[in-house]
Amino acid sequence: MQSEGATNSLRRRESLAVKGHPPATFKTPLGTERLEIMSDVIELENYIGGKWVRPRSTGRLDVFDPSDGSVIAHVPRSNAEDIDLVVRAARKAYLAWRDVPISDRARLMLAFRHVMDEHTEELARSITREQGKTMEESRGSVFRALEAIDAAASAPTTMQGYFSENVAKGVDTTLIRQPVGVVAGITPFNFPVMIPMWMTPFAIVCGNSFILKPSERDPLSPSLLPALFEKAGFPPGVFNVVHGDFDAVNAILTHPGIDAVSFVGSAPTAKHIYTTSSAHGKRVQALAGAKNFMIVMPDAELKHTVSAIIASACGMAGERCLAGSIALAVEPGGDRLVEALAEGVRTLVTGPANDPKTEMGPVIRPENRDRILKWVEDGLASGAKLAARGNVPANSKGFFVAPVLLDHVKPEWPIAQEEIFGPVILVIRVKSLDEGLEIANRSRFGNASSIFTQSGKAAREFTHRIEAGMLGINIGVPAPVAPFPFAGWKGSFFGDLHATGRDGIEFYTRKKVVTSRWF
Ligand code: NAD
Repeated sequence: MQSEGATNSLRRRESLAVKGHPPATFKTPLGTERLEIMSDVIELENYIGGKWVRPRSTGRLDVFDPSDGSVIAHVPRSNAEDIDLVVRAARKAYLAWRDVPISDRARLMLAFRHVMDEHTEELARSITREQGKTMEESRGSVFRALEAIDAAASAPTTMQGYFSENVAKGVDTTLIRQPVGVVAGITPFNFPVMIPMWMTPFAIVCGNSFILKPSERDPLSPSLLPALFEKAGFPPGVFNVVHGDFDAVNAILTHPGIDAVSFVGSAPTAKHIYTTSSAHGKRVQALAGAKNFMIVMPDAELKHTVSAIIASACGMAGERCLAGSIALAVEPGGDRLVEALAEGVRTLVTGPANDPKTEMGPVIRPENRDRILKWVEDGLASGAKLAARGNVPANSKGFFVAPVLLDHVKPEWPIAQEEIFGPVILVIRVKSLDEGLEIANRSRFGNASSIFTQSGKAAREFTHRIEAGMLGINIGVPAPVAPFPFAGWKGSFFGDLHATGRDGIEFYTRKKVVTSRWF
């Protein structure tokens, strides 16, 4: 006999299906076991105005399981016509949605949070399968998505305006916030559910309608979100998903019916998104690439520091915008740090993402693997010392990269300046905190940075002087919780208002100031 828990989970699985073409051959990509999933290649469609719609564009791309290299889906390459359809549906929905009372919008958001929480396991399985992070990492990313929804649901408080009485005799002034209109979110491959949730709940709760253009490299998990919105009771057209790559994105950036664009992705794309959206009169925020420095003082507590650095640099195979890339080892602590990191790198267990023993899964595509390996070769050719190289699973068709530790790297080498986005730890030896700060601040990026120390004075000096947006003190992945804003500085961010927190509410609302007098 099945337990009640098992029956419930079965029911949930049945209710959460990605609808694609032809849906009849496909039960659910998440709840079913691996063999059943492998029996079909899913043909994804766009979700527009509450319906799954076959795109006008006939272009398709393959979606892979990076753990074994197999094709698991085809994703549409939507064109300008497809974008126009979704914008029309989103505009229609917006005109009614903006007038729904804010308390009702917030209540629906809480219902959505509840539904997502119920489906955490299915979402996590899907993320693990198409993105390649471990189940633990996938569950963590869904948990961070839930936190973002929690923060957005505070909108009845955070969206409030303000009022001044008697600014002149008998005259009052009121500031009110209203939604911006139709908002598009363009997201990267590394967090296919969490990053859309930095945008969608904040935009929608403020009264906007939303068009998500997820990464074409892992589009299955975001395609589960419509079922969750439907189950929570959102009206059709408030949340839409349109698939594609650069043609779809360029149609979004230039469409006159889109009022604001939120973007997260690599630096060159972010710059393009920012300049093109701005030139077309749209509000835009574009979170970009990174090169994150971790300063390790000689007094750092070694055990925790080493595990934090390895988790930061090699967690999710280094495919995280907050991944630590360079350890600035302040002498005389360099040798003991490198020795301990080398041991950690050598013993890291790499393997298929859904294997519970795996500590580090594959990277997203063979091109990414080859680019990472090329960076390692480049570093060695420049004169770096190979301090350790980990393992990859034998005879696998998956896109695996062994973790690598390179010592005695110089700050002026290209490998120390460009984003690698793979499990590679570089060590630069420095004489002092001052020298470490000077090297880190020379980077054109400024997403995140950490210091490992037991000295409050060193930590304060670091916090005051480092030029980066998200800082960790004895923390390797300093991701702000969602009531706070998330974004970097310098070349890691294009725009003004960051993602999430009060900035999220500011970004998705327009201010109106009313000056009134009554006779
Ligand atoms: P990417 O720039 O290749 O793709 C991001 C999105 O842009 C995708 O939806 C893609 O379809 C679209 N896109 C890609 N090339 C385009 C082009 N030429 N024209 C128009 N649209 C295009 O990024 P990615 O490889 O998916 O993600 C990894 C990058 O994202 C890394 O650089 C990482 O640091 C960055 N990232 C940054 C943050 C942050 O908070 N700053 C968070 C996560 C990831």
